[in-house]
Amino acid sequence: MAVAKRTSTNVLLDTALKNFYAAAEEMGLEDGLIDILSHSERRTCVSIPVEMDDGTVKVFDGYRVLHSSAVGPGKGGVRFHPEVNLDECEALGMMMTWKCSLAGIPYGGGKGGVSCEPLELSKKEKERISRTWAARMAPVIGAWTDIPAPDVNTGGPEMVWFMDTISKMKNQLEPAIFTGKPIPLWGSKGRTAATGYGVATCALELLKNLGKSPEGATVAIQGFGNVGTYAALTMIGAGAKVVGISDITGTYYAPNGLDIKKAFDHVSNHPKRLLEGFTCDGCQKLDLPEVLFLDCDIFIPAALEGVINGKNADKVKAKYIVEAANGPITPEGDAILDEKGILIVPDFLANSGGVIGSYFEWAQDLGGFFWSEEEYNDRLIRIMKDNFQRVWSYAKEKNVKMRRAAFMAAIQRVADAVRMRGVFL
Ligand code: NAD
Repeated sequence: MAVAKRTSTNVLLDTALKNFYAAAEEMGLEDGLIDILSHSERRTCVSIPVEMDDGTVKVFDGYRVLHSSAVGPGKGGVRFHPEVNLDECEALGMMMTWKCSLAGIPYGGGKGGVSCEPLELSKKEKERISRTWAARMAPVIGAWTDIPAPDVNTGGPEMVWFMDTISKMKNQLEPAIFTGKPIPLWGSKGRTAATGYGVATCALELLKNLGKSPEGATVAIQGFGNVGTYAALTMIGAGAKVVGISDITGTYYAPNGLDIKKAFDHVSNHPKRLLEGFTCDGCQKLDLPEVLFLDCDIFIPAALEGVINGKNADKVKAKYIVEAANGPITPEGDAILDEKGILIVPDFLANSGGVIGSYFEWAQDLGGFFWSEEEYNDRLIRIMKDNFQRVWSYAKEKNVKMRRAAFMAAIQRVADAVRMRGVFL
């Protein structure tokens, strides 16, 4: 490869670039395309002056990176965190390009944020930061340009402030510029369960492709929050047996299957949405990490990154892992699981239900016509199944693992779009 490779002192960006170069080389992508796709189209920095509640003025740094719009407008979250910086946004924006591409939706990748400590901000201060971020980013965001969404420490309220600010600046309602809005304000029914449903759909497709029935298949899930709960409910709905679940309070294990509906009600009624105090027939409480090592067919990590690593991967007993969290397995852990013959459905395929859900919200906002939850779920499941089968076939055809196949298939679609559209701006 004759291209001068970019590197970065930011670990996340450096890793994103290295992963891209490795896959691009393996695919035999031409140098010009490698050069284009290893750069972002636009990296925007703005200052965000905010009057604080005590009357002083503080200036925050705000960012938005559009990595690629070859396939469609950029899509990606806006995070409020002290460590947010331009390189991190670029890395995450690049990952969004591949994720949206693999998901088969008409989006490129973007990411943004504000370097701030949300825990030290009042609601009013957060509102002023959000509104100024949106106003200063107005020239580079839009329903057909780059579409922000919630990310770490942002959610419905921030999306409403963003939307309201841009709408007032333009003197017309602009709901389709942002996704993740509350249902009464141009949000979408079905979004809450979308990622968990998508994860479970991948697990069920995996069993189908292996010629196994979901009936009685055993499942363990780390993390019983938004994604973990809906993945668990979908798996039991398909006849599987969820034998282990966990959250920060510990692991809850029942070899004959846990009462997942009861667990769901328990966390829904717990003030901190925790499993603390949960019990059901045959349920034993184990230490926090034990969920990783339960004897089961499918393990679904749905909590944090890096939980399976070089130090503990040899203890994993599951036959298959469906990654719901982002990056739950380190490269060292991956190599060990590979040697053990454990099949892995990669995160950016398995957890893409969330971004597909954002696409549904955008489509409904543009059309001004809202779908029922059933329509939403039918469409989601159809797309997830297609995507799973595409990666499965690609992996077989190229004789590579699903993780590499997913990445290559994703890059391929963007590269094809650049080739078709040509090089201009
Ligand atoms: P959440 O905050 O609703 O739930 C996280 C759960 O993990 C909680 O039950 C928490 O108690 C548990 N947890 C935290 N630390 C733990 C530990 N050390 N051991 C065991 N459990 C622990 O979050 P979520 O929305 O369900 O997201 C879960 C993962 O999925 C995250 O990695 C997130 O980035 C990823 N993800 C979420 C979405 C989405 O739409 N929500 C989309 C894509 C990816």
